[in-house]
Amino acid sequence: SDDTERTAPRLTVIGTGYLGATHAICMAVLGFDVLGVDVDPDKIERLNSGEVPFFEPGLPELLAKALDSGRLRFTTSFAEAGEFGDVHFVCVGTPQLPGSFGADLRYVDSAVGELAQHLRRRTLVVGKSTVPVGTAARLTEIVRSTAPAGADVELAWNPEFLREGYAVDDTLRPDRLVFGVASEWAEERLRAAFAPVIAQGTPVVVTDLPTSELVKAAANSFLATKISYINAMAEICEATGADVTALAQALAYDDRIGGRFLKPGLGFGGGCLPKDIRAFSHRAEELGVGQAVSFLREVDAINQRRRARTVDLVRELAGGELAGARVTALGAAFKPNSDDIRDAPALDVARTLHQAGAEVTVIDPAAVDNARRAYPDLQYGTDVLAAATGADVVVLLTEWAEFREIDPHALGAVVARRRIVDGRHALDPAQWRAAGWDYRALGRP
Ligand code: NAD
Repeated sequence: SDDTERTAPRLTVIGTGYLGATHAICMAVLGFDVLGVDVDPDKIERLNSGEVPFFEPGLPELLAKALDSGRLRFTTSFAEAGEFGDVHFVCVGTPQLPGSFGADLRYVDSAVGELAQHLRRRTLVVGKSTVPVGTAARLTEIVRSTAPAGADVELAWNPEFLREGYAVDDTLRPDRLVFGVASEWAEERLRAAFAPVIAQGTPVVVTDLPTSELVKAAANSFLATKISYINAMAEICEATGADVTALAQALAYDDRIGGRFLKPGLGFGGGCLPKDIRAFSHRAEELGVGQAVSFLREVDAINQRRRARTVDLVRELAGGELAGARVTALGAAFKPNSDDIRDAPALDVARTLHQAGAEVTVIDPAAVDNARRAYPDLQYGTDVLAAATGADVVVLLTEWAEFREIDPHALGAVVARRRIVDGRHALDPAQWRAAGWDYRALGRP
């Protein structure tokens, strides 16, 4: 309506990585005027010229559309951001601190501090980054001491649940919105900033600041626990000759359990789950309630053991010795449909095999450039058959659709030995065995 248009806030998005670029582009597509801000001038230049600096299905098309509409621009200037925005979304990174389980909050602190200096009117600053509970309260103090007199700045939290690979859909049609607010005004501003999403019937949970911060930690801890739970069952299966895929299938028919995220395999990685569960247990310990989430240490340990077990299976198939074995590693990204290699189980396994003396060639449809930058010592390729020529063992580490569709006969014709470890239960064992392959998978006889 006219009324909605008149009251539509102008938005800035501070930090234009996987989360921020997606948020900025989608909000512009929804009809808002949006300014994206980042400290990385290269990223800003690429975005302004219509290039998404990472792999995310559907996003390049929407960036083109948003730039064409004139509703989206990107800048490195915080002064411009302060001038432009009514509602500012903070989407900068919160990685794990080196040598600690805690979250590194320096980017959040500096983004909010820098922005606050340039705020001149009544403004809402909304954190979307994943942060330890208590961060919003601390940032409120930073803003109060930094913003010029007369600028009436309030802080809110709106945790983000998007999944890489489905980021566009998750942003345009989220399962729910969570608003952590300290006033009715902040709630009203957030409702205005998400009006088109709320109008679709998206549930909104309005709560206080600490609860909103905790929702994200609790959600990711639950998901990580579900994955590690079924992987713990895989360890038991390995000791008994049972089959974890049939076990998982049988569990999944119980609606109270459900099959999503109950997939056994190489386990979780990426820029979120591992560091988020660690930051959560670290924060709980600081608060004196570490015991409440001490199981997250076990969730993490189970997850790490899957990587070690995958290396062991490759060693077994290589005849007990990795030195000199030619291994083709299918996958580098932490999951399919992403080029994100942060804490990627696939690359962790590939690197460990390489360190043990194997000759490893890594294949990935999207993540080879990122992987090569991080681990220049490994060999890389994009063509499966070319890379696998002469291989002693093939190991599937990321379940890209193109790997699921590999023809075992075609691959069998080029390898030196038909031996495959399926780290993601992505292949049909019967089909591969029928084609003469020695097929091994985690948690399966
Ligand atoms: P990212 O590393 O891709 O992006 C972070 C961006 O922030 C980078 O472009 C960096 O240049 C920029 N930046 C750093 N300091 C800055 C500053 N002071 N001012 C402006 N920009 C600055 O990280 P990401 O994956 O987008 O994650 C961002 C946050 O969102 C994290 O807290 C993460 O946990 C959370 N999150 C991520 C996802 C996801 O799927 N990637 C999902 C939900 C939540």
